[in-house]
Amino acid sequence: MNKMNVAIYPGSFDPLTLGHMDVIHRAASMFNTLLVSVLNNKEKCPLFSVSERVNILKEATKELTNVRVDSFSGLLVNYARENDTRVIIRGLRAITDFDYELQIAQTNRILSNGEVDTVFLTTSLEYAYLSSSSVRQIASFNGDISMCVLPFVAEQIYQKYGFGSGNSKSSQEEHHE
Ligand code: ADP
Repeated sequence: MNKMNVAIYPGSFDPLTLGHMDVIHRAASMFNTLLVSVLNNKEKCPLFSVSERVNILKEATKELTNVRVDSFSGLLVNYARENDTRVIIRGLRAITDFDYELQIAQTNRILSNGEVDTVFLTTSLEYAYLSSSSVRQIASFNGDISMCVLPFVAEQIYQKYGFGSGNSKSSQEEHHE
């Protein structure tokens, strides 16, 4: 089935959350190859550099043999063309994502002369509340992010905010005692 060959899952992944991982697992089961690609958006001020995010994604997906990790800049439709795919994967958490995602999906369809379509995966309910920005915010106050990200990712996030690895929970417990 040629049509279902390669799909691209683009995003900021700053940081990679369990919500992203859920989408990756599900999309990887639908396509022969899933290309997870970090958008190199120079305007943003990221927590992790693009290469750090690529490395985190590689580590997190190392057991998924049909997942490849990459980064890109410029127009997504050009990147899709270069990678010989017509399918973009995006996740939808709530109605608030919809307006923005619909606009981008339609723009990409027009820019690619109808060649590139977007497939939306609705979030698994347990991750519907999860966003990279809320993870950043919780971690910046040394809060518990263990239900939001993989353990090795949590460690790297705490380090970015100057907290030692695994510090968060124990310091909170100490506080309550
Ligand atoms: P972007 O800046 O491109 O929106 P993100 O890393 O925030 O990058 O998100 C990448 C994609 O993953 C988006 O389609 C987003 O809707 C989706 N996504 C983010 N968090 C979740 C989640 N908890 N469940 C499902 N999809 C999600």
